[in-house]
Amino acid sequence: MEKIYDVMIIGAGPAGLAAGTYAGRSRLDTLIIEQAKDGGQIVITAEIENYPGGIEGETGPSLVERMSKQASGFGAQKVKDTIVDVELEGEIKHLKGLNGDYYGKTVIIATGANPRPIGCPGEKELIGKGVSYCATCDAAFFEDFQIFVVGGGDSAVEEALYLAKFGRKVTIIHRRDELRAAKSIQEKAFANEKIDFLWDSVVVELSGDGILDTMVVENVKTKERTTIKADEEDGTFGVFVFIGFTPHAQLFEGKLDMENGYILTDDDMKTSIPGVFAAGDVRKKSLRQVITAAADGAIAATQAERYIEG
Ligand code: NAP
Repeated sequence: MEKIYDVMIIGAGPAGLAAGTYAGRSRLDTLIIEQAKDGGQIVITAEIENYPGGIEGETGPSLVERMSKQASGFGAQKVKDTIVDVELEGEIKHLKGLNGDYYGKTVIIATGANPRPIGCPGEKELIGKGVSYCATCDAAFFEDFQIFVVGGGDSAVEEALYLAKFGRKVTIIHRRDELRAAKSIQEKAFANEKIDFLWDSVVVELSGDGILDTMVVENVKTKERTTIKADEEDGTFGVFVFIGFTPHAQLFEGKLDMENGYILTDDDMKTSIPGVFAAGDVRKKSLRQVITAAADGAIAATQAERYIEG
């Protein structure tokens, strides 16, 4: 007879870990299934200054480590697996993983979102060879090099500030002539002497023989194209892409109500199937932050408990 969990949580980012903490603390038999490392996107965040009560110098990995320990401390079990199919209807939900099958009374989907690529020629081939989506992971490779950051939101500008500690110059390439990022973050970037801006511009091509050394940028207003070449001495430069995310929810297409790839929930994180909840960046919401992900997780776990109690 297969074990039947009270709560199965898919994803161990802030939403999944908060759900695990709340479910575990409620003495629910809880399983967190994660395919990679705990933390989701937050582990690629260099600095978190706006998590309430956060300690100075808090980073994504440090916050996640504590969240993860906390969930385990309350008894949430963890398994490393990739869920490839789901049966969500009925009283017992069934998650099919590459390594095994999992059964439970409720499911909390906290699978998050992936960084969105530019989609231009050369980008895919040059990932890890000049193209990156993670400043924390790759900034050190570009010590004293020229760095370009694509995007104009909070992520792009915050990561540009971080990258400016490494590169000799950071150029933010944004498709409009004003940033989307919060004013307080913008102010820091405008005040940083190492950061400049390429407005109204998009990257249309990246190239290089084994390593990125050329980028073509198009002005969206004039359609003029400019080719940027790496300094001869450097031989390369970094292109860091922060232009939003794609929700990690393909598995649920046709099974749950969704919009633009995001799972639809009500205020209690309930999806269109009873006993199935979604929390964090994977659901349609107005603010995607660690704090809202954690809050979603807490609500989802509490509602899962109520659902089980009938
Ligand atoms: P975002 O807010 O959606 O911003 C994406 C940026 O990329 C926008 O400036 C957008 O331009 C640009 N963009 C989108 N598609 C593009 C394309 N195909 N080519 C070129 N540029 C493109 O995404 P985010 O910055 O990753 O932030 C996601 C969420 O996390 C937001 O809610 C954000 O507030 C939050 N966040 C918060 C913090 C913080 O508070 N510390 C840090 C990081 C993220 P347009 O402006 O023209 O649309």
